[in-house]
Formats: sequence, structure tokens, C-alpha cells
Amino acid sequence: MNKADYRGVWVFAEQREGKIQKVALELLGKGRNIADKLGVKLTAVLLGDNTDAMAKELASHGADKVLVAENALLKDYTTDGYTKVICDLINERKPEILFIGASYIGRDLGPRIAARLATGLTADCTALDIDEETKDLLMTRPAFGGNLMATIVCGDHRPQMATVRPGVFERLEKDENAKCEIEKVSMNLKDSDIRTKVQEIVKLAKETVDIGEAQILVAGGRGVGNAENFKQLKDLAEAFGGEVAGSRAAVEAGWIDKDVQVGQTGKTVRPKVYIACGISGAIQHLAGMQDSDYIVAINKDADAAIMKVADLGIVGDLNKVIPEMISQLKAVAK
Ligand code: FAD
Repeated sequence: MNKADYRGVWVFAEQREGKIQKVALELLGKGRNIADKLGVKLTAVLLGDNTDAMAKELASHGADKVLVAENALLKDYTTDGYTKVICDLINERKPEILFIGASYIGRDLGPRIAARLATGLTADCTALDIDEETKDLLMTRPAFGGNLMATIVCGDHRPQMATVRPGVFERLEKDENAKCEIEKVSMNLKDSDIRTKVQEIVKLAKETVDIGEAQILVAGGRGVGNAENFKQLKDLAEAFGGEVAGSRAAVEAGWIDKDVQVGQTGKTVRPKVYIACGISGAIQHLAGMQDSDYIVAINKDADAAIMKVADLGIVGDLNKVIPEMISQLKAVAK
């Protein structure tokens, strides 16, 4: 393998049921920055059926080029079909970098591609940059239980591959007039290449809240004390028009659902306002919320680590502070 043969930054444009996933747009935002640093093209790789509207959406979010593999066999994700088509494209066109969203699909696809191409993959990156000297990709992620950040380099193999969770990077503003080439590729894909058949896509029956989309989050931790006390956080969130989230301690206590856990093993969020109630600010929790625009911390302990990242720290018992906030908000709303 000759490294010099590999050029360009690719982003896997994950779609589900004809809808581009937000992590793909976020990766295009970061990919733009990396491609500019290298002076190369940014390409979105889209697999699916009836792709025209999706390709246009990618074109307006920073891509120089959209490579489209359109085929009825690629309508829904399958490990075999997607791995084959992407590996064939990589072998033919040789990109130096491939970014994939760390969704359930991306976590399945990324390692398959990396193994097939005998290259490396760094999962769940929280920062990506270019080494000014070597031009290698610097992939940073938490290591040793989140107690230190490790920067990993894939110096000898190509493409350099990284997965990134939703919410870590920001998408670019939509630009309908952006210049972008859309190329439909031909492929060698047969029915028999795909060993699994998607019969039906079953969604979770319960209504799930996407805390990654919320503008205001009221998050509770162990300091909330019990499930009953969590109700006042819901009231506060409602008064603000926001959603409820929480720390892993609150999830483990069974007070909230795992879907709304914030942090290293939960979700990464960056709302306009994050109100942390009874959360100490462990490094694994901060990893998921420290990029929020404005952080409010309510804690009995003035020295809690959360106070260091808070824009506003309220020292006090949350059982007194939260009812007071709700009543003041209601008074203003009248
Ligand atoms: P605590 O640390 O117990 O803090 C409770 C806080 O509440 C204290 O600061 C206390 O002063 C305050 N308090 C108590 N009573 C009141 C009151 N009445 N009014 C006001 N304040 C009060 N954690 C996550 O959150 N997300 C993750 O994704 C995550 N991933 C992890 C991954 C690994 C590999 C490991 C090892 C740990 C992970 N953790 C994660 C756990 C993390 O290390 C902490 O244990 C956890 O975040 C603590 O939750 P907490 O802040 O709610 O509880």
C-alpha cells in the first residue's frame, strides 16, 4: 500500500427510510474543516434507493461531491450489501480518510470495512484534527474509563477511519447554492451478495425523546434522591419548554430511562441551556454536556466539579431551588 495514492475525505451519509441522519450532516461539518486543512475534496457517500432529495441535502451541507450508489438492494441497511459497495468504492477511488457516525448502523459497518481493508478504526472520537507535519489524522477519544484522552494515529494504513457519536460536532449552515457534483456510481452487487433479508423495520413501541435535539435540558443526578423528586424536574423542563435528562447514577437508580442518559456511555448533547440538578460533574458526565451554550448547576456543594464548567452555579438544596424557579417562571409567564 502506498499512502501517497490515497487522497480525499469521505463521510458515510447514513440514511434510514430515506432520511439523512443528523450525524452524517455533523460529520460533513467536521469533514469540511479537515478537508480544507489537507487541501482535498470532501465527499459524501450515499447508499440507498430514490436518493435524489437526500443527495441534494448533502450537497447543501458542505460536500464538494456526493457519490451515490443507488440500488433497490441498498434501500435498507444490510451489513453485507453496504460493506461490499463501500469497500469496492474505496479500493477503486482510494480516499485517505473515512468518517462514520457511531450509530447502531455505523458501529456495525465501520469495523467490517476496517477489517476487510486491513486498516485501523478509532471508535467514538470526540476530537479530530490533522498533524501539521505528517498530515496524518489525529483521532482523540476518552481512554481508561474516561480518565484520560488518548490521541490515536493510523500512520501505516489507509484509509484512516473514525466513528463519531451524534451531537459531538456541529453541522454547517444549509447553503442551497453550494457548488457540488453529484455522481451516480455503477456497482457490482447481486441479490446473493446479501445474506440477510430485511423483513420489517420495527420501531420501539414507547415514545422516545431525542435529547440531542432539545434546546433546553433539565438533567438530574443522584442528588435528586428518588423517582418522586424527579417529577419536579419534569415540571421545570415543561415550564421552560425543554426535556428531562440525567446522569448514569440516575439511570442506574431506575429514576429515568437509559435513552436520556448524558455522558460518555450515554448521549452527547449541546443544548442552549443545560440545568444540572444534583449532579457532581464526573468527567464521564462532563464529556457529554460541557459544550452546551449555557450551563446552570444546582448543587448543595459549592466545590462540586460541575461548578467549574457552570456559567451559573446555584448553591442550595434542589428541593427548595427548583420549586422556587418554577413559581418564578409561572409568575413571569402570567
Ligand atoms: P454523584 O456523583 O453522587 O453526585 C451527586 C451530587 O448531588 C453531589 O454533587 C451532591 O453534592 C449533590 N446533591 C445531593 N443532594 C442534593 C440536594 N438535595 N440538592 C442539590 N444537590 C444535591 N456518568 C454519567 O453521568 N454518564 C455517563 O455516560 C457515564 N459513563 C461512565 C463510563 C464509565 C466507564 C465510568 C467508569 C463511569 C461513567 N459514569 C457516567 C459515572 C460517573 O463516573 C459518575 O459516577 C456519575 O456521573 C455520578 O452521577 P451523579 O453526578 O448523578 O452522582
